[in-house]
Amino acid sequence: MEDCVFCKIIDGSIPSNKVYEDDKMVAFHDLNPQAPVHIIMIPKLHVKSADEINETNSEYIAHIFSKVGEIAKSLGLENGYRIVNNCGPDAGQTVFHIHFHLLGGELSGKMG
Ligand code: 5GP
Ligand code: ZN
Repeated sequence: MEDCVFCKIIDGSIPSNKVYEDDKMVAFHDLNPQAPVHIIMIPKLHVKSADEINETNSEYIAHIFSKVGEIAKSLGLENGYRIVNNCGPDAGQTVFHIHFHLLGGELSGKMG
């Protein structure tokens, strides 16, 4: 997708501070962190949002969740973390390439 920031991070035309990468996903530090540790996890497939997950693309989403424990451990998040997905404008989604926020360190409040 030509105008997608996260597709550009995948192809390397926009730099990012990566913490994990394989053939199906990339995880990198958020540009504007909202927590002491704030990682963005994305599939290497342009799916717009959680609303567009289907039988064909869901293996990419499942793959992210199969790696999240390993990624969290590599970042020292032994004491826990939060996984957040914003789906659509009302939820505050600003980049329309599905992504999961991995938030760690001391988090304020139970949600949000
Ligand atoms: P959303 O609001 O769509 O759930 O989250 C998008 C996130 O992507 C935001 O937290 C924002 O800071 C992050 N972001 C947007 N553009 C870039 C970028 O070019 N590089 C990085 N590392 N993060 C970005
Ligand atoms: Zn994309």
